Amino acid sequence: MAKILDGRAISKKIISDVALEIKNERAKITLAVVLVGEDAASKIYVRKKEEACREAGIISIRRELPSNTSEDALLKLISELNFDRKVDGILVQLPLPPHINERHICSAIAPEKDVDCANPENVGKFYLGEFSLAPCTPKGIIELLESYKINLAGKSVSIIGRSNTVGKPLAMMMLSRDATVTIAHSKTKNLEKHTANADVVVSATGKIGLIKGEMIKRGAIVVDVGINRVGKKVYGDVDFESASKKAGWISPVPGGVGPMTVAALIQNTYYLWKRYHGTQV
Ligand code: NDP
Repeated sequence: MAKILDGRAISKKIISDVALEIKNERAKITLAVVLVGEDAASKIYVRKKEEACREAGIISIRRELPSNTSEDALLKLISELNFDRKVDGILVQLPLPPHINERHICSAIAPEKDVDCANPENVGKFYLGEFSLAPCTPKGIIELLESYKINLAGKSVSIIGRSNTVGKPLAMMMLSRDATVTIAHSKTKNLEKHTANADVVVSATGKIGLIKGEMIKRGAIVVDVGINRVGKKVYGDVDFESASKKAGWISPVPGGVGPMTVAALIQNTYYLWKRYHGTQV
């Protein structure tokens, strides 16, 4: 039976460590969270992020806009937050309604307040190897593995999913830790061929039960990023029942990558404050 990569416990520890640093520095840090529309899942994520801010001693302010908000109106709000000296970080909860171009919005966030590393200037630095600021989900996954002393050097990794927020940046971070990385996607033929020999399998597709026990090798490390809601229940991409019998380590859903994403947000917010307003470069 696989050992559990307990994101909930690790996230708690990270947030309380940051809280202590913030307290010691007497830092007054404010994160603005922008939520557009009525997406139920987004509302849950925003609430969790606000809770984590409270635990860390970060002030969070929520800016909620209706789903028919125009791109211009959202850009105007971002601009106001960019110029607001009381605001240290800006997070725009994705996805945005389809009439709003996410790239335009991410590009508008001032790089020094960009807590999810979404502005192209920060993205460019990230891909050139400056990982001090990284997108929250991949950063959280790396922190989770490192917390359990899992060394990626020399390991073969199969990442399923190539989004700009998860698959691609995670591949970069793992490559920089000397893993050999394959990225699969919806057009990949014979997915099992890529997962069966991998030391580490990361699934980030949003396809419930895509990865089954028979697709992974014995002792593999399995990271499940997927969040799939069925009624009130949440499932990952990985069939936990069969995969946990074969894997060496496995991250559960819920309680795995989700809380780690939130912890990484708290770390990034504190990091940007330190970098631009605080005592440390
Ligand atoms: P996207 O929809 O942007 O990307 C999904 C990726 O999965 C695409 O690259 C797609 O391929 C690939 N894919 C879809 N179906 C298959 C398939 N059958 N076989 C192989 N690959 C497939 O999603 P995100 O990256 O934003 O999110 C992925 C999942 O992770 C979602 O469930 C999301 O809710 C969750 N998530 C969880 C977070 C957390 O904190 N736990 C944070 C962010 C996301 P193609 O490119 O060819 O379309």
